Amino acid sequence: MDTNVLIVGAGPTGMVLANELRVAGVSTTVVDKLSRRSELSKAGGMQSRTQESLDQRGLLEPLLASAHHELSTAHFAGVPLPLARDRHRLPWRSMPQVSIEAFLEEHLAAQGIQIRRDHELSNVVQDENGVTAIFSDGAEIRSRYLVAADGAHSTVRKLVRAEFPGRRGTATAIAADVRLRGDDKAKMHTWGEDGRRVQLFPLGTDAHGRPLRRLVLGGLGSTTPRDVPVTADEIRDGLRAVFGARVELVELCYARRITNAARLVAQYRHGRVFLAGDAAHVHLPIGAQGMNTGIGDALNLGWKLGAAVRGWAPEGLLDTYHAERHPVAAAVLRNVQAQSLLMDWEGTRDPDVLAAKDLFTAMAQLGEVQHFLDDMLSGMGIRYPMPGSADQPLVGLPAPDVDLGAVRSHELLRSGRGVLLDPGNRFGKLAAAWSDRIDRAGQDADVQPMLIRPDGYVCWAGGPDDGADELELALGRWFGEEGPSLHD
Ligand SMILES: Cc1cc2nc3c(=O)[nH]c(=O)nc-3n(C[C@H](O)[C@H](O)[C@H](O)COP(=O)(O)OP(=O)(O)OC[C@H]3O[C@@H](n4cnc5c(N)ncnc54)[C@H](O)[C@@H]3O)c2cc1C
Repeated sequence: MDTNVLIVGAGPTGMVLANELRVAGVSTTVVDKLSRRSELSKAGGMQSRTQESLDQRGLLEPLLASAHHELSTAHFAGVPLPLARDRHRLPWRSMPQVSIEAFLEEHLAAQGIQIRRDHELSNVVQDENGVTAIFSDGAEIRSRYLVAADGAHSTVRKLVRAEFPGRRGTATAIAADVRLRGDDKAKMHTWGEDGRRVQLFPLGTDAHGRPLRRLVLGGLGSTTPRDVPVTADEIRDGLRAVFGARVELVELCYARRITNAARLVAQYRHGRVFLAGDAAHVHLPIGAQGMNTGIGDALNLGWKLGAAVRGWAPEGLLDTYHAERHPVAAAVLRNVQAQSLLMDWEGTRDPDVLAAKDLFTAMAQLGEVQHFLDDMLSGMGIRYPMPGSADQPLVGLPAPDVDLGAVRSHELLRSGRGVLLDPGNRFGKLAAAWSDRIDRAGQDADVQPMLIRPDGYVCWAGGPDDGADELELALGRWFGEEGPSLHD
């Protein structure tokens, strides 16, 4: 083997996965066909759960220090959600994807992982022991596993003949990074009388510290093909139609067309090849869910691949990647499709759709509706299907961050190992058999006993009087056989 895991694609999904494998102590190689990092402006926001996950690895603080970011308001179908700031430890932030990618690439380099650029994968051959990746210049890399993080037009997805059911795009809109004049009071989502629609979101600042906006200009059911360049006049024209003379274009930094295509792979695993990020799911970019879902894939897959390479993965662990992440992306596609309908993405001006939108706007003022949408859009509502979740409300959910005196529980996950919170010191003897894969903590704390996977999800929780049997089952199910793991 040249490397344990070959990651094809150095977008946010591939780079977060590389870091997860590094934390798991497994060698990895990341390749990308581009000779330098893409400066394309893409997603613009980071969900609470993504921030928590980066924080678990100690990456959030340096990221926030290095990249421009602002606390931001989430929206559903363009209706702003006045979210309570205290519902989650880390509130929604707007942050350009280019800054996140720059930070991740620098972080990986500092840890000794250099992205191999100018490596365009053109073929994949797998057998029972490994995968051979063949590049356009004829070079080959042999690995135990290969992860396709090669984006929406994934070559790997085509090579492994993955089914990619869904719907092709039916309408395009313009997404642009702009500087505007007169936009201070502009609403997040505004309709013009002719049916054109403008959405505006904060997008950090340009090199001179001037505020940038992400503008999405749609409606009218445009079918202009995606590859037709966007002109400044189109944007001026759209702004005039919606805002009159009030809002003017000062600078057009970047623009492209986006479509409402929606597809999700039928299977995330194809033997030793795994699909992650946009390679597995594509949808209209609403609410930066694409990037966040891809990062979530990487965090779910990383420790499982690490366990497989290190030899302690229990039977079926790698298959839980599909079982856990496919429903998450399916739910994202559903909410994006609902949003695009309510936003009248295709510009039908159908009175039934407008009535549904009015009704939804009124409902979105209700606290319970806001909490429901917040759980969905923040990533905090993701609950993986796990044994035990019917009896224990915490199982399958992101672990709460609890105070353990000297540390907070999320900090313990920096090691990439599992964590057993064991108030009352009841499970020391049992846990000792897995001590090379989990850390025990919280013996003196006033917390609920729980077992947390390396990705920060609770996989067992107990009551004060519960015995050790269920915990022992969970340890075996998620952390393999007791006793020293094969490679340690
Ligand atoms: C132009 C554009 C605009 C977007 N706007 C938004 C937005 O506003 N909001 C939002 O939520 N999401 C948006 N998205 C989606 C969001 O950016 C993606 O969900 C996110 O980038 C997914 O990350 P990824 O790492 O899975 O894939 P990507 O970021 O697409 O990374 C894939 C990487 O794989 C490399 N690659 C591809 N093929 C090969 C090959 N054969 N060999 C080697 N390397 C290869 C590429 O060069 C690329 O670096 C946008 C995407 C694009 C492309």
